[in-house]
Amino acid sequence: MKYSSYYITKVNYKYNFVKYNKSYKKVGLCMKQVDVLVIGGGVVGSAILHKLSSLNIKAALIEKEPDLCEGTSKANSALLHTGFDEPVDSIEAECLIRSQALWLNIIENHNLSYEERGAVMVAFTEEERKVIEDKYMENARLNGVMVRWLTREEILAKNPGVNKDCIGGLFIEKEGIIDPFEATYTFAEVAVLNGAEVMLNSEAVQISPDNEGFVVTLGNDSKIQASYIVNAAGLHGDVIARLIDDDSFTLKPRKGQFIVTKSHIDIENIILPVPTPISKGKLVTPAVFGGHLLGPTAEDMEDKEDKSTTEDGLEEILEGCEKMVPAARTFTTVRQYAGLRSVYAGGDYILRPSDYDKRMIHVAGIRSTGLSAAPGIAEKTAEMLEEIGASFDEKNDWEPNLSKLTSGKESTDEMVCLCKSVTKNDIVQALNRSIAPASLDGVKRRTEAMLGECQGSCCIPKIIDLMGENQNIEGLPVKGGRNTDMAFKD
Ligand SMILES: Cc1cc2nc3c(=O)[nH]c(=O)nc-3n(C[C@H](O)[C@H](O)[C@H](O)COP(=O)(O)OP(=O)(O)OC[C@H]3O[C@@H](n4cnc5c(N)ncnc54)[C@H](O)[C@@H]3O)c2cc1C
Repeated sequence: MKYSSYYITKVNYKYNFVKYNKSYKKVGLCMKQVDVLVIGGGVVGSAILHKLSSLNIKAALIEKEPDLCEGTSKANSALLHTGFDEPVDSIEAECLIRSQALWLNIIENHNLSYEERGAVMVAFTEEERKVIEDKYMENARLNGVMVRWLTREEILAKNPGVNKDCIGGLFIEKEGIIDPFEATYTFAEVAVLNGAEVMLNSEAVQISPDNEGFVVTLGNDSKIQASYIVNAAGLHGDVIARLIDDDSFTLKPRKGQFIVTKSHIDIENIILPVPTPISKGKLVTPAVFGGHLLGPTAEDMEDKEDKSTTEDGLEEILEGCEKMVPAARTFTTVRQYAGLRSVYAGGDYILRPSDYDKRMIHVAGIRSTGLSAAPGIAEKTAEMLEEIGASFDEKNDWEPNLSKLTSGKESTDEMVCLCKSVTKNDIVQALNRSIAPASLDGVKRRTEAMLGECQGSCCIPKIIDLMGENQNIEGLPVKGGRNTDMAFKD
């Protein structure tokens, strides 16, 4: 049975009636029609929506959670990688390299929290020096990324906290730190302000290909007709592929646990070890929110939902980090969290149309670099759509600088979160953004309220009141206790 959007002729409040065999057939709740539907509201899906909003098409994004950035995008090292160590000619390297110039524009246009700290890969043995010289320097050169050897003295001058036994290291100047939440929200908000649509609490549970594209059924049984689908569902990309019987790839979770510390660490750069074949190793990195992150682990898992943190993980991080920064064990842990990398056995990103139906583009297996590579992935996705026959003009009136983001603190405004100096005005602005937070965690990630010493015990009641006043909702969900499922801003 084929339903064509062309035949949708009658719409009432609840149902579409589709003409089929000369009679009308009820097909469910009003069917929304879009040219391109992005599945997944992480940083990658949001960056893709941002790019699509620059084209003359109807683009929408669905996210199964009540907010954006609830998957891997909220739980990572928050670094903008250069791609110095990615395999030459890989799709991953291409996207990372493309992203560098794109990020500069996005960061500048939206005044995103970003610091170009530079990273140092520290060597302690002659063997490690040789690996750096033979492998990483050469790889960086081929990928066009600027790196240079630093002497022990040069490393220690900027990073007195580093182990004095080091013999030197590789300096990767352009590596930086960023706020992954702000980046994700910004992509999506700019897209929405340019006409795209974001639907939260919207899980794709069924996808039926038809002549016009696909009919996507959501968890609440409503349907969306999409000419093309971009599968950006992160770790669940293989689940989405299977909805059209495409079993060409499987994604496995690789857990990375982190420690957040507010202890003072005498380092200016991002400090990393010489990597192993399965992990870039445990880093010690400054965070744009203040404090430092230590980690991550690299644990192959089966359960795609298990983001628990463990005593063993904590110990492994401390052990790894204290080799580079000897005082690591003395740091106070203020929080722990874990994220799940989306690992594809093939190694590289999966960035291609499905072999089962070319109108679905897979953007999957985006393992350890998706935050950094998101703008490049988005550009490449738009090109792929064109390659499979979707031709969309650039919008004349696309406005990349549109923004409804908070406009800085007003010192005269009533203070709500004393620890982080967040005012009533900041909270109200956040609640009125084009994609508003649906929970206290959402407010936290957008404003930094509840992140200070008291972890919200003083300001939560006031924030709940403000949410009620501004969103007409009562009984907002409060995630209590020490929630290790939350990223470092929680
Ligand atoms: C430990 C660790 C450290 C990392 N460090 C870095 C780093 O420093 N720099 C860097 O660049 N990258 C880093 N990464 C990688 C980066 O975080 C990811 O590549 C990136 O966040 C992936 O984004 P995404 O949008 O593809 O996935 P996600 O953020 O997981 O988004 C996918 C979204 O799809 C939604 N979804 C799933 N199924 C459905 C469905 N059926 N219907 C609707 N929605 C659905 C999910 O709810 C989720 O929100 C790290 C990752 C980890 C785990």
